[in-house]
Amino acid sequence: MIKDNLSAILSSIPSEVTLVAVSKTKAVDRIKEAYESGQLDFGENKVQEMVEKAALLPKNIRWHMIGHLQRNKVKYIAPFVSLIQSVDSSRLLNEIEKQGKKNERVIDCLLQVRISQEETKFGLTFKDCDSLLQKFDCNNVRIRGLMGMASFTSNQYQIEIEFRSLLDYYNQHQPQQQWDILSMGMSGDYPLALTCGSNMIRVGSSIFGARN
Ligand SMILES: *Cc1c(COP(=O)(O)O)cnc(C)c1O
Repeated sequence: MIKDNLSAILSSIPSEVTLVAVSKTKAVDRIKEAYESGQLDFGENKVQEMVEKAALLPKNIRWHMIGHLQRNKVKYIAPFVSLIQSVDSSRLLNEIEKQGKKNERVIDCLLQVRISQEETKFGLTFKDCDSLLQKFDCNNVRIRGLMGMASFTSNQYQIEIEFRSLLDYYNQHQPQQQWDILSMGMSGDYPLALTCGSNMIRVGSSIFGARN
């Protein structure tokens, strides 16, 4: 069933789009099932959960951190994380740089931008991104692009406006920054995100079923 869900999604999206299977709250066995059908990118939103799962699963899995990340926890995922999609402050970025150095690696990151109307979501404003990019000078961090979450609403027009605002900012900076990842779209809105230029989607419930 997980296998069928994965192949249905993969056959409906362009081959250059990366599908991140969001496995938060889901058991290791379910992840293994997805892995065995060929899925390698998985997203988690909690450090401890990611660390525990990574220890039990094959080493060629690419782990994506998609949830709010506390600075004092970066050290636990720094040795192995593939992409930190939820960078929402320059202090966090500095800590990732420090841990990247310690682990003698470059850690790929996305800046998480707050594009939704909702108050509660983490993320940088476009202005925050401007100033962060201006003073950004790191050797062990590579900013690959942007991540954003649209409002939880049935108003497709609203969602499209939000996705397009992120696409515009991405397009403005992509040539100079050499960005290559625009992460937008979840189970409910990834088809729309793809029409708005997304090249990475983060899909959980449509693969693994609803979370409790
Ligand atoms: C949980 C989560 C997703 C996946 O949500 P679904 O609606 O289950 O596809 C995507 N992105 C982020 C940042 C999430 O926290």
